[in-house]
Amino acid sequence: PLTTADVIEEHRICVCVRKRPLNKKELTMKDLDVITIPSKDVVMVHEPKQKVDLTRYLENQTFRFDYAFDDNSTNEMVYRFTARPLVETIFERGMATCFAYGQTGSGKTHTMGGDFSGKNQDCSKGVYALAAHDVFLMLKKQNYKKIDLQVYATFFEIYSGKVFDLLNRKAKLRVLEDGKQQVQVVGLHEREVKCTEDVLKLIEVGNSCRTSGQTSANAHSSRSHAVFQIILRRKGKMHGKFSLIDLAGNERGADTSSADRQTRLEGAEINKSLLALKECIRALGRNKPHTPFRASKLTQVLRDSFIGENSRTCMIATISPGMASCENTLNTLRYANRVK
Ligand code: ADP
Ligand code: MG
Repeated sequence: PLTTADVIEEHRICVCVRKRPLNKKELTMKDLDVITIPSKDVVMVHEPKQKVDLTRYLENQTFRFDYAFDDNSTNEMVYRFTARPLVETIFERGMATCFAYGQTGSGKTHTMGGDFSGKNQDCSKGVYALAAHDVFLMLKKQNYKKIDLQVYATFFEIYSGKVFDLLNRKAKLRVLEDGKQQVQVVGLHEREVKCTEDVLKLIEVGNSCRTSGQTSANAHSSRSHAVFQIILRRKGKMHGKFSLIDLAGNERGADTSSADRQTRLEGAEINKSLLALKECIRALGRNKPHTPFRASKLTQVLRDSFIGENSRTCMIATISPGMASCENTLNTLRYANRVK
């Protein structure tokens, strides 16, 4: 039977899956759709509906989540059921986190940051911006209640276990932990924001900083975690924090057998951080003594978001529909399944 603690636990962690449409490349390569979302919370992996000369046999597998979003879903829809309910948390002195987890190319950045595929980059429809928009709406209501809150934003990247400030020309930052296990990213730029427009500008700055100087934008971003935070302060003191994280591609965790040493090290670091993340989410708010916060820079930096009574999180696991991605898709679904 469900206990009260279980019910609270249910609400603390929300896990959903989002399937993207087959893209041009997949269509050109005649890849076939092997994912069906038969109802609002079920994901099925199966053989392609079209008869093909199968080189491998796909065993049908079914997974259940809090929500499953089909390839025709919009960012707004995904946002409404995942990050949106967490906005209130930070006004109630809580900590909220929202992760996009999945294979490179499955739609993490599209979901979190917005649409960067075309010439006209539009970050106004990403979860970062949608959350910021609602924070300012809530703030108006709160002002009405005479609570004086200021809003700040940070944007940084964790690459190979090191922290870089995306709002300050990728300055490399140190992470310090004091005796009380309070973690601080030293010198991280925290910008005050007054409206959604201010936030959009910061997202643009951060995104261009993230990819600048890279021969291939995706090669780099697939190996780094991007953390965007909205922080509420009252008389300078932290009131609540919302961390929105575009994680490194989970397939990179398998780079541990690469011939290139650097790639191997990066792969090991990604693997370690995603495993630690799973454990930290599972232990959310329970303040377990053995939660492996220190096992990776990602979980160390997010430590204060996993402890405390009023911490909530959601994970958006993004998946590609194609048969060619099926191995990675199954890995993503299994991981997301175990987070809860
Ligand atoms: P990731 O960040 O996981 O590596 P991206 O977000 O960059 O993946 O997505 C890869 C490509 O697929 C991009 O061109 C993006 O615009 C497109 N895409 C991703 N998700 C969707 C979606 N739900 N609908 C339409 N296009 C999408
Ligand atoms: Mg990306």
